[in-house]
Amino acid sequence: MSREVRQGKPDDARHSELGRRLVAVQEHIDRVCAEVQRPASGVTLIVVTKTWPEEDIERLVRLGVSDVGENKAQELSAKFDQFATVAPADVALRWHFIGQLQTNKAAIVAQRADVVHCIDRLRLVPALAKGLSGRTRPLDGLVQVSLDPPGTSASHRGGVPADQLDELAAQVQQQQGMTLRGVMGVAPHDGDARPAFARLQEISAHLRETYPHATWISAGMSGDLDAALEFGATHLRVGSAILGQRPLLG
Ligand SMILES: *Cc1c(COP(=O)(O)O)cnc(C)c1O
Repeated sequence: MSREVRQGKPDDARHSELGRRLVAVQEHIDRVCAEVQRPASGVTLIVVTKTWPEEDIERLVRLGVSDVGENKAQELSAKFDQFATVAPADVALRWHFIGQLQTNKAAIVAQRADVVHCIDRLRLVPALAKGLSGRTRPLDGLVQVSLDPPGTSASHRGGVPADQLDELAAQVQQQQGMTLRGVMGVAPHDGDARPAFARLQEISAHLRETYPHATWISAGMSGDLDAALEFGATHLRVGSAILGQRPLLG
């Protein structure tokens, strides 16, 4: 069931291409969920649109996509504002911020995003709070946990060390205008993602002992979503499998 975003704009080749890849990814998710005996309805697909133009977001919304992800504050802000000028009021698109976030750009994100996945240090919470005043709904927050083996630096993919999770989660929980939803992780580049996602699932279980409502596990990208689903991911962040290979930047 697609929704018209910009009336009268004809579907083009890119629309068809995105539609094909989207269906393929959704079918793949359904298949893996059946294999690991989980209901696919418990999994939210976030389509990561970073580096792609805002017009692709309009195409995705016409294809029924309800969640998009961006990893740069300026880019999210520009696309959000552009989308707002073309989208009818009844289109409910959720914007996820999934990148590493500089403190001085946190308010820009907090003014627009529905979910911030990458809360990885205490200072970021009051910085996000500065952007919350104009919002009508709470901002959903996930604490990003490092899944790198201890002592790793070269392949560092961000996140708070697991032993600092409790303090950071408490900070998010007590912040007015924010809701602690769970954890997020990025598997190390090299090697098997399964042990990393198994750890994330354990960390999530630990968090839920204190915050039973914080059930979200954001894990899994185009290359490792099977492993993420096996270990309980509730939110997948999929870019290239749907939009294509991103152009190399710089
Ligand atoms: C880019 C990105 C993704 C999507 O990666 P693909 O391999 O294109 O699916 C997911 N998560 C984060 C944090 C990203 O930066």
